[in-house]
Amino acid sequence: MADAGARRLEGAPIADEIRTAVAEDVASFTTANGRPPVLAVVIVGRDAPSTVYLERILKGCAKVGIEAAFVELEGEATEAAVVDTIRTLNSDPAVDGVIVQMPLPPTIRLRSVVDVIDPAKDIDGIHPLNAGLLRLGYDGFLPATAHAAVEILRRSGVEIAGRDAVVIGRSAVVGMPAAFLLVKEDATVTVCHSRTRDLAGHVARADIVVVAAGHPGLITGAMLKPGAIVVDVGINLVDGRIVGDVDFESASRVASAITPVPGGVGPLTNALLLTHLIRAAERQAEARHDATPPTVTTAASSRGDR
Ligand code: NAP
Repeated sequence: MADAGARRLEGAPIADEIRTAVAEDVASFTTANGRPPVLAVVIVGRDAPSTVYLERILKGCAKVGIEAAFVELEGEATEAAVVDTIRTLNSDPAVDGVIVQMPLPPTIRLRSVVDVIDPAKDIDGIHPLNAGLLRLGYDGFLPATAHAAVEILRRSGVEIAGRDAVVIGRSAVVGMPAAFLLVKEDATVTVCHSRTRDLAGHVARADIVVVAAGHPGLITGAMLKPGAIVVDVGINLVDGRIVGDVDFESASRVASAITPVPGGVGPLTNALLLTHLIRAAERQAEARHDATPPTVTTAASSRGDR
């Protein structure tokens, strides 16, 4: 296929569409509840790259009318302090969604933090309950990046059902949820990882390749089946430039469609996180409404006898 042959699957136009819809839902929520939806971002010590990512989320929230704020703990904060902070946010009815900056400092166990987030506020789908719902094909909160990797295919009109898909990477936040989502879309999915014996052989047979390894240049055009569709989730800093896991130039000569890095999965990830937040806010508002006891009107009070 010619250089210009591979269609670029751009995330930004899809993200714009999503944000427009979210802004409408946020406005309705704000009118109905007398406050905007609220996101809390827990930060434990400042980690420059992930803080940049989180600041982008804050800006994205502001654009659609969501109130979002960092809840910052010192880099030396204990695990107990982080867990307490999350518990406080869980029990605050004025907070609708909670995300936690990753990676956590090495002194804090990921599992202790993940387990304590209220699944109803877990808008990045990291709690085991949400992971389990996804595994069973039920409706929970999805990890936003994995959601974006599959949503970009769906919204770009790529046929997924019946196709052979290879996911490279098996992390709990990207690779595995992307694989489960592709299965849900009726693809036949192979998951590859660092111990996979014949990565090239698997990739060569794939109609759809989702790469989430954190390894620049891992996949080249020579490895792809002609006409394959490539979703590059990787984000790597090489010589001061952000690049994906796929060698874009050679891959776009062989693939029929490919997501660029930056500009593909990334923008969609942020927009989808906003959709998760408004959904969390609406569901919790409904639950509060359902839990409010009905006002009892006695015969006497309804006649105005008191
Ligand atoms: P991770 O936890 O480090 O997982 C990487 C996965 O890739 C692991 O399963 C690993 O295998 C596998 N892998 C590594 N090298 C490999 C190789 N040479 N061949 C085959 N498999 C290999 O990373 P992650 O959090 O899933 O993130 C993956 C990538 O996505 C990173 O580049 C990250 O920056 C990016 N990311 C992007 C977004 C976005 O919005 N676009 C968001 C989050 C992350 P093992 O399990 O055997 O170790």
